[in-house]
Amino acid sequence: MAAGKTFDVAVIGSGVFGAWSAWHLAQRGQRVVLLDAYGPSNARASSGGESRIIRMGYGSDELYTRFSQRSLQQWKEFFAATGQKFFHKTGVLWLAGADDSRVRQSMATLKHCAVAFEEMETPELARRYPQVSFERVTRGFLEPESGVLMARRAVAAVAEDAVKKGVEFRIAKAETPRGSEGLAALKCSSGETVVARQFVFACGPWLGKVFSELLGQRIFPSRQEVFFFGVPAGDARFSPPALPTWLFQEDEYYGMPDIEGRGLKIALDHHGERVDPDVQQRIVTIEEARVVSDYVAKRFPALGNAPIVETRVCQYENTSNGDFLIDRHPEMENVWLVGGGSGHGFKHGPAVGEYVADRLMNKGAAEPRFSLKTKETVQHRTVF
Ligand SMILES: Cc1cc2nc3c(=O)[nH]c(=O)nc-3n(C[C@H](O)[C@H](O)[C@H](O)COP(=O)(O)OP(=O)(O)OC[C@H]3O[C@@H](n4cnc5c(N)ncnc54)[C@H](O)[C@@H]3O)c2cc1C
Repeated sequence: MAAGKTFDVAVIGSGVFGAWSAWHLAQRGQRVVLLDAYGPSNARASSGGESRIIRMGYGSDELYTRFSQRSLQQWKEFFAATGQKFFHKTGVLWLAGADDSRVRQSMATLKHCAVAFEEMETPELARRYPQVSFERVTRGFLEPESGVLMARRAVAAVAEDAVKKGVEFRIAKAETPRGSEGLAALKCSSGETVVARQFVFACGPWLGKVFSELLGQRIFPSRQEVFFFGVPAGDARFSPPALPTWLFQEDEYYGMPDIEGRGLKIALDHHGERVDPDVQQRIVTIEEARVVSDYVAKRFPALGNAPIVETRVCQYENTSNGDFLIDRHPEMENVWLVGGGSGHGFKHGPAVGEYVADRLMNKGAAEPRFSLKTKETVQHRTVF
């Protein structure tokens, strides 16, 4: 770090939230340094997966529908400006079981927010997608404009573009900041210090480690296993446009078609055990591999014997109810806490970055649902 240099903002963490925060701050002329212990969208980061869903439906949660709308627009503009193809418009298909209330709430909110969707009863679903078994599915709707972001590469591209806009990027591990009023200089494990007027800790699942007293019981990192199943040779039924991305909340499963030849992606949205992102092993368990293989065989009968061609182990960084945490530190007024993506945060990176830049530059109103005081120490998930 250049000795004596004072930045306007130091952003700690170059996952999707930190990278987009740095990008928006640089866009507004702020002098920004972006630090990451392991690098942008590294293999341990929650943003480090191959792919993430971007959908507009959030039940009756208009806040996140609007954030998704704003984010999709920005992702598309960013990819167009930088010549990247990291958005696949696969469509996102919502499936409802016996309780279709959430799907109905989502459709009502989408209508209100002018998001295009197509409602389908089960016979129409079966006609459109004969490669899927719709057992226990009562209805569904398709968001035709939504799809999949190629997560790891998209974040790397945002960080790279932020550097082109003047952001200084450093591999460095920030130590826990201490101070009673404000933070003047941040210490790194290398012994270096970073001097800035404001500090944004966008440390994802590490937030509870960096601020153990404050957030250790308020951020719940959960182990999540992801599987890719090999599709039959020469068979396009499991690739877009034949198969969209899909979610079936009643079963707690979601999946994506075969994108870029990686295979049919599928994962359980159920929260796994509590983990430490630095040391958790990234090897899937035989038990979950069996459970997921059985599910694939039932939902996609032609994939009954499909091999698992790739796996990933990641972690969600859950808050008590799934609402983001974007607020000032209660004691250090120039320190900001940004995270709590809670298994659904990736898509919102651009809108979160914009919101963070607004807050740091005293623009716009604070969203009460992002406040620290709403974050409990017992989990009760309400945002999906
Ligand atoms: C399996 C899985 C599937 C998901 N699916 C979806 C989906 O389909 N759609 C969706 O929208 N979201 C999804 N999510 C959620 C989404 O990926 C996360 O909410 C989002 O990536 C969180 O980003 P982040 O920037 O907060 O954290 P991270 O990406 O984890 O970034 C935090 C960064 O901080 C750095 N860091 C930590 N501590 C320090 C320190 N002391 N000093 C310096 N650097 C530090 C880390 O190295 C890391 O790079 C999914 C998550 C998982 C795990």
